[in-house]
Amino acid sequence: MLPLIRLTPLVCRTGREANFTIDCPARNDMLVSGARYRIHVKSKVSTSVEKQLEGVMTVGNKLIFLYEPPICGEYAVILTRNDQPVETFHFFALSEEMARYRPYVGDLHSHTTYSDGKCSPGFRIIQARLLGLDFIAITDHRRFPPCLEAAEFAKANGLDILVVRGEESHPDYPGGHIVAIGIQSPVDELKLDALGNQAQTYIAEHAAIVKELEARSDLVPGLKRELYAQTLWHIRKIHAQGGIAVLAHPYWVSAERFDLDREIWHQCLRDGEMDAIELFGDVKPEDNSLAVQRCMDHLADAGRRYPLVGSSDVHSAKLDDNFGRLFTIVFAEEPSESAVIEAVLAGRSVACEELDGQPFRAYGRFEWVEFAHFLRRRFLPEHKRLCMAEGQLWYQRCFAGGMPDSVLDAVATARISLYVALWG
Ligand SMILES: [Zn+2]
Ligand SMILES: [Zn+2]
Repeated sequence: MLPLIRLTPLVCRTGREANFTIDCPARNDMLVSGARYRIHVKSKVSTSVEKQLEGVMTVGNKLIFLYEPPICGEYAVILTRNDQPVETFHFFALSEEMARYRPYVGDLHSHTTYSDGKCSPGFRIIQARLLGLDFIAITDHRRFPPCLEAAEFAKANGLDILVVRGEESHPDYPGGHIVAIGIQSPVDELKLDALGNQAQTYIAEHAAIVKELEARSDLVPGLKRELYAQTLWHIRKIHAQGGIAVLAHPYWVSAERFDLDREIWHQCLRDGEMDAIELFGDVKPEDNSLAVQRCMDHLADAGRRYPLVGSSDVHSAKLDDNFGRLFTIVFAEEPSESAVIEAVLAGRSVACEELDGQPFRAYGRFEWVEFAHFLRRRFLPEHKRLCMAEGQLWYQRCFAGGMPDSVLDAVATARISLYVALWG
C-alpha cells in the first residue's frame, strides 16, 4: 500500500528522546502548511503514560516532534487539527536490551527429496524466500547432506538467504522426532558402522545411559528407560556439536494415537533436555493447541519455560501446505546460524501461526510476542512483498534462463533497507 501520510521512525528506544516526523511523502493535502495540530501520544500498555503536544506547526511539509517513551511497548500517536481527527499512527518502544536485536523470519524444519520431501534443497530455499523467510533449516530425516547442498546452492547462485544446518534425528522407536539445528555433521549416521549395523560405540554409549537412568529415582512412572536412553543419546550428540535439539510436533496424531511416547516427552521436559519445543508444527490446529497447553501446564508445574518455535515441517513441492504459514521470528544480532541459535536459547524466539483465513497468533515471551504483533501489522507485509519479488527473480536466475546481478542486488537492497526505515 502506498502511504498517504506516515510516521517515522516506527521503532525507537525507551529512555531516549526520539525525533519523530509525520509527513506526506506524495505531497497530498493531509497536512496543511502553516496549520497547527495537536499530537496525543498514548502508551498502549499503561494508562498513566501519555502526553499532549498542543499547537505543533508544520515545518515545510512535515510535523516534527520530540518524545521520550518511558516504558517498553506499543504507543499510539493521535493527530488532530481543530479537534478533527487526521490520522492515528503507532510506534513501538524497545528497551535498550531489546533494541540490540533485529527480527528475522524463518522456518526451522523442512524436507527435500533427500528424505520424503518433494523438491530439491535449492528449490526449497527459493520457495522460502518467496514466502517471506530470511532463514530456513533443511532438516531431512536422518540426512545431513541436503542442508549442505542448500547452502552451496545459495552461495553458488548468489542468493542472500541464511541456510541453517540440520537434520531430523530419530531414535529407533516410533515417534520422538528431534529436529537437530546448527549441527556440523550427521547425527543419526553415528549409530551405524560401515556395514549399516549398529555401531559398537553406539551400543556401548546407549548402555551407559541406561545404567545412568537405572540409578535415578526421579523418573516418570512407566518411563521405558531403554527408549529414553535412545532419546538422550541423540540429544547429547546434537549438543556435542554445538547444535540444539527441538522437540518436533509433540502432539502429532499417527495411526489414531499421539505419535510421541507420553512418558518420554514428560521426562524430557522435566529434565530440561530439549532446548526448544516446536509449538506449531505441520499437524492439525487441535494438536498444536495441545502443545500450547502442555507448555503452559509445565510452566505452572515445574516453573520452567522452554524456548518456542513454529515450523512448517514442509514436505510438498507445491505451496499448498503450511510452508510460510507456520514460522518463527527470532530476534538476533545478525542473520547467522550461531545468532539464530543463540536467540532461540535466550528465549528471543516467537512461534507464529498464520493459516489461511485465520488470525495471526504468536507465542513466546510476552515482550517479544507484543513486538511480533506490531511487526505483523507494520513490517512483515512489506517484507513479504519484497521477498516474493526476490524469490521470483531467484527462480528466474536458477531455473529459467538467468537474471543479472544488478536486478537481484536492487531487490535485495530494498528488502534490507526496510530494516533501516523501520528503525529510523
Ligand atoms: Zn517429524
Ligand atoms: Zn519433519
